[in-house]
Amino acid sequence: MTRMHVGFDDTDSPKMGCTTYIAAILVEKLHRLGASFTDYPNLVRLNPNVPWKTRGNGALCLRIRCKQKNVEEIKETVIEAVEENADLTCEGTNPGVVFLFNRVPEPVTAFAERAIQGVVEMKDALRLVDGFDAEAVGFKKSRGVIGGLAAIGETLEGDHTYELIAYRTSENLGTPRRIKQSSVVEMNEKTSPPTFNNIDSKTKRILITPRGPDPILYGIRGENPSAVRRAHQIVHSDEPVERWVIFRTNHGTDAHLRSVRSISEVESFNPVAIQGLVAGAPKVITGGHVIFTIRDKTGKIDCAAYEPTGTLQAVARKLVGGDLVEVYGGVRPASSAYPITINLEKMRILKLAPRVVLYNPRCPRCGKRMKSMGLKKGFRCEKCGFRSSRLEKVAVEYKRNLEPKIYVASPRSQRHLTKPLCRYGKEKSGMPEKMIGGWHFP
Ligand SMILES: [Zn+2]
Repeated sequence: MTRMHVGFDDTDSPKMGCTTYIAAILVEKLHRLGASFTDYPNLVRLNPNVPWKTRGNGALCLRIRCKQKNVEEIKETVIEAVEENADLTCEGTNPGVVFLFNRVPEPVTAFAERAIQGVVEMKDALRLVDGFDAEAVGFKKSRGVIGGLAAIGETLEGDHTYELIAYRTSENLGTPRRIKQSSVVEMNEKTSPPTFNNIDSKTKRILITPRGPDPILYGIRGENPSAVRRAHQIVHSDEPVERWVIFRTNHGTDAHLRSVRSISEVESFNPVAIQGLVAGAPKVITGGHVIFTIRDKTGKIDCAAYEPTGTLQAVARKLVGGDLVEVYGGVRPASSAYPITINLEKMRILKLAPRVVLYNPRCPRCGKRMKSMGLKKGFRCEKCGFRSSRLEKVAVEYKRNLEPKIYVASPRSQRHLTKPLCRYGKEKSGMPEKMIGGWHFP
């Protein structure tokens, strides 16, 4: 038996398609060709912070065992499925497929880590394909070869989650999704946790259904395959489900965030986790976005908490100079209008500085708040005329309406990779023990 890893990426466009759907079709086709799956299909989200990303920046890998005599037919089937289902008319869609045989070599794993946390180049991918037992097939600019190889290299032996994706039939594409809302509420009550991000608790918005023209009816995220399957059984849909597949994925794991020790190490397009002292009062700009600066011995950098992050922008507004925080997020390069900026996905408050406000003293005679007569010149009461050069400003310390803990963007604005609060302490390591039925097709 031959071990084969099939990676592919960059097949969709804003108008149509979804790389996971090609994976779902291939699960059926390869199954019929006698392949046995050694893992759930892997859905690997790459660095969401790269400038040329596809919509969700998700790459796919199927890991199978098959007879040597079937290898050629399997390869043809994969290439055909990508060709038929990719939106090749879209300029920004540049699909790529990679086949890798036997074990995943360590340099390919390292390449995957760089593709998730930073920026990799086509020539690095092609060098690895040439150097190992692998083949790459690209369409147009072939950018998908990078994601395809990265999906192969990310074997998800560290923290991972699951997503069950149910797909629509072709005649319903582009129409509003007909999901019974109350069934999603019921599903959330019965299965969360271990399922997560089903509903935005604040706005009550249903989060399992996307809105675009893609073939996804809904996607349910969870800690294990049985939880997402059970949740899927509870959700009621008034339109048919064509097929569903459980993916093993790096969703909700913070895999993209790399801890750096100093602000001088922060680089554009490389998501980070970094500590710093808040340099001064945050600014609220048009649209309700909050900007503040953090600093350390090596420099300073702006942080932005955008309005849709909900909780996060509310927390950012309450920061004061001297607070010690750890911020997490993608890094936007400097432009003519803005300096380099960390776009916040989450923030840990490590130490709160006291918030002290200085007031003029009250008049000892009549009790009215006094007026300053100028720096070090004392105070004067406007009501009774009392003057004093000995009185000083009075310091009042206000209670901080914040706690030293982690704050995460509201679920509705979380990135695929952002680890939600409910997952802290549930991080997994190692491969799953046993596969339960991971798909259903017509
Ligand atoms: Zn007075």
